[in-house]
Order: sequence, then C-alpha cells, then structure tokens
Amino acid sequence: DSADDLLRVAELVRSVPDYPQPGVLFRDITPVLADGGAFATVTTELAAHAGEAEIVIGVEARGFLLGAAVALVAGVGTVPVRKAGKLPAVAASRTYELEYGTATLQLPAGVVEPGARVYVVDDVLATGGTAAASCALLADAGAEIVGFGTLMELTALNGRSKLGDLRVDALLSA
Ligand code: AMP
Repeated sequence: DSADDLLRVAELVRSVPDYPQPGVLFRDITPVLADGGAFATVTTELAAHAGEAEIVIGVEARGFLLGAAVALVAGVGTVPVRKAGKLPAVAASRTYELEYGTATLQLPAGVVEPGARVYVVDDVLATGGTAAASCALLADAGAEIVGFGTLMELTALNGRSKLGDLRVDALLSA
C-alpha cells in the first residue's frame, strides 16, 4: 500500500553529513529518482495533491525533475522557476536571504496567466526561503497558489512557517 511505498522511498533518501558545508545533513533524493518504482510513488502521490491546479511549478533544479513528472501525471503543464540569469524574458523576480548572501529566483514571461491555479513542487523544504520566494513571485504574477508539495520536509527548520496558511504536502518528514 501507499505507506509501504513511502517507507521504501524513505529508505532510498541518502543522508550525507557535512554537505555542502559542515553541520548540514544533506538529503540526497537522487536514488529515489533513479528507482522507477519510487519515482512513480512520489510522482503519483504529489500529483494527487496537485488537485485542481492548471500548472505545476518546478523549482530549480531538482524541483524540475519532480515537477515535470507530477505535471504529466496530473495531466497539466509545467513551468520552471529559475535562478537569475537563465531566462530570456522574466515575468517576476524575487531576491531572498541565504545563510551567506542572497539568491534570486525568476518566473519566465508569458506562460503563467493572472488567475492561473498553480501547484509548486521542490525536492526538500528546509528553511522555506526558496519555497517562500517561489510563491511570492508567483503571487506577483497574479497566480493562485493551491499548495506546495515536497518529497521531504525538514521539520526542525520550520520552513512552513514562512508559507503562511498555504497548504504544504510533504510525503516524508525528518
Ligand atoms: P530552503 O530555502 O532552506 O528551504 O532550501 C530549500 C532548497 O535547498 C531546496 O531546493 C533544497 O533542494 C535545498 N536544500 C536545503 N537544505 C537541504 C538539505 N538539508 N538537503 C537537501 N537539500 C537541501
């Protein structure tokens, strides 16, 4: 059943101490994506949460891999939220704080109409800065965000507190 399937997904997540810097326990989802059954499980589960969304948004970069597959299963299209400097035309842009410095995320122009219902997907919800910036720039573009879906939520970092009352669907938590 679904609980067994998710248990198997959890076993495939690789925890790497001190990457990319000392003190961080990095959750590497590469083995989940590389396993056909596990990839199908996470894609199907997130697609079920995408509900009435018309577009699934994938956040650079691992969110692209999940988001595109979720969109296909949900029967809708996908749009990437990209790091600055990659898009020829930009609809909205948000800069947010990282532990060291800042990062900027951008939405491509001409693909998310005002009022479009979107579901945002990324691999891991950590501090929530990336998810919050992604949702903020989608709101700037007039999109209606129906939820945020992730393979794994790192609950100790309380990322969902940055997302207000937005529904967060986390398949796994650690
Ligand atoms: P944050 O903005 O802190 O929520 O970080 C979210 C982004 O950074 C996601 O796109 C994740 O892919 C990545 N990330 C942050 N912390 C981790 C971690 N411990 N393990 C894996 N990915 C992480």
